[in-house]
Amino acid sequence: MAYLGNSARTKEVLAKYNMSAKKKFGQNFLIDNGVLEGIVEASGVTKDTCVLEIGPGIGTLTQYLAEAAKRVIAVEIDKTLMPVLADTLSEYDNVTVINEDVLKVDIESIIKEYNDNKPIKVVANLPYYITTPIIMKLFESGAPIESVTVMVQKEVADRMVMGPGNKDYGALSLAVGFYASAENVMDVPPSSFIPQPGVGSAVVHLKKYENKPVQVKDEKYLFEIIRTAFNQRRKTLSNSLSNNPNLKVSREQVQEALVKMGIDEKARGEVLALSQFAELSDILQR
Ligand code: SAM
Repeated sequence: MAYLGNSARTKEVLAKYNMSAKKKFGQNFLIDNGVLEGIVEASGVTKDTCVLEIGPGIGTLTQYLAEAAKRVIAVEIDKTLMPVLADTLSEYDNVTVINEDVLKVDIESIIKEYNDNKPIKVVANLPYYITTPIIMKLFESGAPIESVTVMVQKEVADRMVMGPGNKDYGALSLAVGFYASAENVMDVPPSSFIPQPGVGSAVVHLKKYENKPVQVKDEKYLFEIIRTAFNQRRKTLSNSLSNNPNLKVSREQVQEALVKMGIDEKARGEVLALSQFAELSDILQR
């Protein structure tokens, strides 16, 4: 089976199975050999690595991963792709395809079953309609995941890598920053896919920290503060946080905490770094 990473082979496979890309599953198939090689290189996958791929599609990136890795576990929601994958991946004995919704599978059990609970790497061209839930699930599960190298919408990549003061900085930057260092590896134009997405894309490499950069009394409370601060981005922190009954704080208490931290009492969330949100969370949570 020749590599699928070009337009002619991709069209040939889709025609053979009388298929077209399904919008509801966010299907945009990669057809750019250079981008596919770039993803594998950025992921740091070697012959010792077990990879979890999310959404193999017709098996394009899977072929490159199967060549580079020890083993690939690919989770695909679309059952009509199962016969296609059986065909395009028939030459590889190190690939297992699981026909499931990645948001419903137990990632920890997969890693236990296929890699003796040793750390794996996640590599994927993600379905854009559920990028954030997938990334949060991977990190929040606490499963042994070393890194996540994924194609996402360019705008989402910007939000993941930005720091305080930037217009793209927000809840996603902080949530990712709590678990991993984030790097934009390359920007990818719509012409690298069939069908072409209506937005630009980028590959990000998220390397999970061995030790989290901040420690707090209550992680749930910290994340509630972060979500609240950016739900009402234009409001001061004292206004937005005191408006959320779950946080049980008054306007004055927030202002007092900010002043104690050496921050303007009228500050908005967009100027605070993760370490400052952590400090604020511990002060407010009594
Ligand atoms: N990896 C292929 C490629 O690069 O050409 C396809 C990538 S396409 C952007 C996203 C893939 O994710 C599709 O195959 C789609 O069916 C699959 N997908 C969408 N939602 C999913 C879900 N909840 N769980 C698992 N796979 C999903």
